[in-house]
Amino acid sequence: MKVAGPKQQTLRRLDSRALSTALVGWYARARRDLPWRHSSEPYPVWVSEIMLQQTQVERVKDFFSRFMERFPTVDSLAAAAEHEVLRFWEGLGYYRRARQLHAAAQQIVAEYQGEFPRSTIGLRSLPGIGRYTAGAIASIAMNLPEPIVEANSRRVLARLAGYQKRLDRPGDDEPMWTLAKSLVPKQHPGRFNQALMDLGAMVCTPDRPLCGRCPLARFCRAKQQGSVDRIPLKAQRRAVVQVREVAIVARRGNRVLVERRTAGEWWAGLWDFPRALLPQRDPLKGSAVALASAVLKGLKCRKPEHLATLKHSVTHHRVTLEVVQCQVTEAGPRTIGRRWVRLAELPTMAMASPARRIARIQALHEPIETILSLRK
Ligand code: SF4
Repeated sequence: MKVAGPKQQTLRRLDSRALSTALVGWYARARRDLPWRHSSEPYPVWVSEIMLQQTQVERVKDFFSRFMERFPTVDSLAAAAEHEVLRFWEGLGYYRRARQLHAAAQQIVAEYQGEFPRSTIGLRSLPGIGRYTAGAIASIAMNLPEPIVEANSRRVLARLAGYQKRLDRPGDDEPMWTLAKSLVPKQHPGRFNQALMDLGAMVCTPDRPLCGRCPLARFCRAKQQGSVDRIPLKAQRRAVVQVREVAIVARRGNRVLVERRTAGEWWAGLWDFPRALLPQRDPLKGSAVALASAVLKGLKCRKPEHLATLKHSVTHHRVTLEVVQCQVTEAGPRTIGRRWVRLAELPTMAMASPARRIARIQALHEPIETILSLRK
């Protein structure tokens, strides 16, 4: 491994015990108090790790507690309907994670009598559990000396090793896995792994790391070489794509039309208001009735009103969403994936996050005259 020059070999073979002792000692004093750390059972460890993929710790805290209250065991999760699991995932984004969590729970119950497989190979055979999550569950909940590499620990490891190559493409971080494997101790591997992540989150931060307060400073090659600011090598950011869309809130008395997003769309499986892409410039001028009717596929719209302009992001897309409300007198033909629902039902449905924001412009719970007076 390129990170392993003669000095690095020394770090790995001779100093790993001292490094581990320093790190775990720091962790005992400084660890973050996170709700999922109140138990070291596989189930909460697993749920939290899946939630933490692509979602910030602070945001996960509330979602985790609410989710565990509703689905306290792997059996209760397996027995739930998918739409309910999605409902409790709402707001966390990347809903594929929730579907896989649900599918894995069903597999654990069906094939393993509700017990988690006790090896990383067995864990990785479950939907949504990759190398990192398997390592986290195995080390934290099963006390197995398995390594983990995620964004925080990857940065710490790269700096410790003075590793100055790219880490953002598939396979780039293989040397970090090798290094992590060589460092993880047999005793308290879970604490060591969590300490590495906490150090990355609290001390060895992406910008301006607190090297003066770092328990691993004496082991750190980047610090010795003066290359901390250059490690890890920064990846080029993906170009931002601007997208403009319209969402139609079609009202029929106290009912509103919703559509279920299909596979391959953003928020697949969740309910949303009918939507369409718009041209970038001046999308609504003079054509709101025709536009709404077209989006609603033939339903006749009256009194279109521009309710709001919402902005949100999906991956590298920056979406501007124009929300238009209109009145519809007929339900139209039955269409798969479309439903007229009572306004009071919306809070109980699993909805795409922009749709939830629209539903909260509330507004939708009020007569149209009230909405208009609120907007003045
Ligand atoms: S000394 Fe600085 S760069 Fe090295 S591990 Fe500690 S915080 Fe990170």
